Amino acid sequence: ARQHPGAPPQFFAAEMNLWTRERLDLETRLRRALEAGQLELYYQPQIDLKSGQIAGVEALLRWHHPQLGTISPAEFIPLAEETGLILPIGDWVLRTACEQARAWRLAGLPPLRIAVNLSALQFAQAGLVQRVEEILADTELSPGELELEITESVLMRDIEGAAQTLRTLHARGVSIALDDFGTGYSSLAYLKRFQIDRLKIDRSFVRDICADPDDAALTQAIVAMARNLHLSVIAEGVETSTQQRFLCEHGCDEAQGYLFSHPLPAAEVTELIAAGHPL
Ligand code: C2E
Ligand code: CA
Ligand code: CA
Ligand code: CA
Repeated sequence: ARQHPGAPPQFFAAEMNLWTRERLDLETRLRRALEAGQLELYYQPQIDLKSGQIAGVEALLRWHHPQLGTISPAEFIPLAEETGLILPIGDWVLRTACEQARAWRLAGLPPLRIAVNLSALQFAQAGLVQRVEEILADTELSPGELELEITESVLMRDIEGAAQTLRTLHARGVSIALDDFGTGYSSLAYLKRFQIDRLKIDRSFVRDICADPDDAALTQAIVAMARNLHLSVIAEGVETSTQQRFLCEHGCDEAQGYLFSHPLPAAEVTELIAAGHPL
């Protein structure tokens, strides 16, 4: 490894050491977190822009560490992916989200879609379709109520295998959203080869939609393309009503973001679902 210019070598070595120790520590802690019940799903509403109603919710993982506080998934998902811990965690996420959807239905709330993020490792896992079917059967959820969110890069790892998995899931009635859309490669060429139901416009485009003509043009192009391909389209990271108006005017179907609601614990999002709309 190259030395940082000007930094005394022992300092650098000590820093590396600390980093490795922290990492190991985090891994051990994450391993225990699942059993200790420190993981929780939050849910963020997805809004139908025409009706203003909640069309679905995305399940987002939170880790409540007794000493470290709440740790963001951006920090521990990559580690969980590297260590394979994402498999049991992902399984728990899928089951918990479906159980929650069932609880909402049993409570008489209007039916809604539940979106669950799938990691690359989970998606490539041999028994994925079977696991999904098992969980749907156990929770008596209809497959149409479940949506799986995957990123373009997950699909590009093994194009043929991914296309087959998507065909199977699609045939079972589970819908697929392409997350962070616009940030990956080759998406256009491969779009029609994959059974996809929804495009999720990445937050980075939505952020500057009203200030940057390029981002506005890209967003418009994604929406137009989705419509032509008969795909649904949802924008993520919507924070202002100006962004909402732009998206609505250009034919975007749904939106998700702090403007409508932050991701919330189940009990709090239940109140929003019961009310039918977040505003
Ligand atoms: P993502 O799937 O792209 O999720 C959207 C992220 O944007 C969430 O961050 C959400 O809290 C945040 N967000 C929502 N609305 C807004 C907004 O208006 N403005 C801004 N600035 N941010 C907004 P979060 O919950 O920290 O999750 C980060 C990432 O961690 C997710 O990105 C996803 O890739 C991953 N992740 C979360 N939960 C799971 C999970 O259960 N399984 C897997 N495999 N990955 C997960
Ligand atoms: Ca997502
Ligand atoms: Ca996303
Ligand atoms: Ca994103």
